[in-house]
Amino acid sequence: MTDHRGLNDEQTALLSLVRELAAREIAQNASRWERDGIFPRDTFTALGKAGLLGLPYPEKYGGGEQPYWVYLLALEELSRALLSVGLGASVQTLTIFVTYVHGTEEQRARWMPPALAGEWIGSYCLSEPGSGSDAAALSTRAVRDGDSYVLNGTKAWVTHGGESDYYIVFARTGEAGAKGISTLFVPAATPGVARAKLEDKMGMKSSPTAQVTFDDVRVPADHLIGEEGSGFRIAMEALDGGRLGIAACSVGLASAALDAALVFARDRKQFGTPIAQFEGISFMLADMATQIEAARALTIDAAKRRDAGVPFGTQAAMAKLFASDTAMRVTTDAVQIHGGYGYVDEFPVERYMREAKVLQIVEGTNQIQRLVIGRALTRP
Ligand SMILES: Cc1cc2nc3c(=O)[nH]c(=O)nc-3n(C[C@H](O)[C@H](O)[C@H](O)COP(=O)(O)OP(=O)(O)OC[C@H]3O[C@@H](n4cnc5c(N)ncnc54)[C@H](O)[C@@H]3O)c2cc1C
Repeated sequence: MTDHRGLNDEQTALLSLVRELAAREIAQNASRWERDGIFPRDTFTALGKAGLLGLPYPEKYGGGEQPYWVYLLALEELSRALLSVGLGASVQTLTIFVTYVHGTEEQRARWMPPALAGEWIGSYCLSEPGSGSDAAALSTRAVRDGDSYVLNGTKAWVTHGGESDYYIVFARTGEAGAKGISTLFVPAATPGVARAKLEDKMGMKSSPTAQVTFDDVRVPADHLIGEEGSGFRIAMEALDGGRLGIAACSVGLASAALDAALVFARDRKQFGTPIAQFEGISFMLADMATQIEAARALTIDAAKRRDAGVPFGTQAAMAKLFASDTAMRVTTDAVQIHGGYGYVDEFPVERYMREAKVLQIVEGTNQIQRLVIGRALTRP
């Protein structure tokens, strides 16, 4: 039996479990973790134990063997409870993708099970202080020396930087440009790996973001993932799926903001009437709900293309663009509906609004998504 969305009984039960776990382990602590900048490492272990860090991967490695779109619905639930956790789970899935799709069987068997079980957390290191949108200009270098690569450089904006057990590092092994980049699995305990600057962010304070430096870091040559020179292609392929993750996080965050706005609007009275009864407010709520439904539909549709094995990169860019812009609009409107109470931390909506901004920036800014979509449309 499947429901109107196509979820079977097992998947419905899985999403109920995620919702319950998110409410019990995450939502209750979210404000405190965010206020105090506490990284909930144990929560990631709990998610791993519950099988929620490897939903789209085969059971053979400890995964849930679920379609990508079902994984995205789970991510939505986590992000509804706390964006730092949802986005963190999405980044973890992104790092695992690299090994799963491009690693050897030996690498998969070695590195996937601990990551899927939440025993290890990982980071995806593409951005650098001097190269963000223009990722192919990265300058971190890996030089082959006998049976090792020696890595030098600085990665920027590393989600979970300093907390991770491994880093998926994109580094230059050859010529300038996209074709000279390779992918290395770097254990965090390797001498020469260090967290440099921890960023003091606008939001997502419970998700550490840091610069990570690599100073003569020697990794065995068998830690190369894929062929030398294939790194940029791997990074971009991973980001196609990752952008769907960010879209799902956006839908989750926007849904939390709508929930909060509905509760407040029904409760708050002005002119002797709950403000939800004013057309100006109910129209805002209607627009918020409609935009969320549209963002979810676009995201799930793109994911179903991925599951069907057809090209989905353009649709993933559209979903990321639309859903993150929706999250920004909806969280801003949720603050507006709260009036002055929206501007103080007594209610969660000011945090949601701060959190939403990052979704328009990470995994390719929304200008870059437009570039991707525009290029696909105008290709000769
Ligand atoms: C909280 C957080 C977490 C992050 N986590 C990670 C992570 O785990 N791993 C990782 O590798 N990176 C991560 N990033 C980095 C993120 O992916 C980059 O910030 C993003 O890709 C933009 O790069 P940039 O900041 O260097 O901005 P820039 O590329 O310098 O862009 C500056 C501005 O110029 C615009 N712009 C640039 N090029 C064009 C163009 N061709 N056309 C039109 N406009 C353009 C951009 O849209 C933007 O508005 C994270 C960032 C943040 C804030």
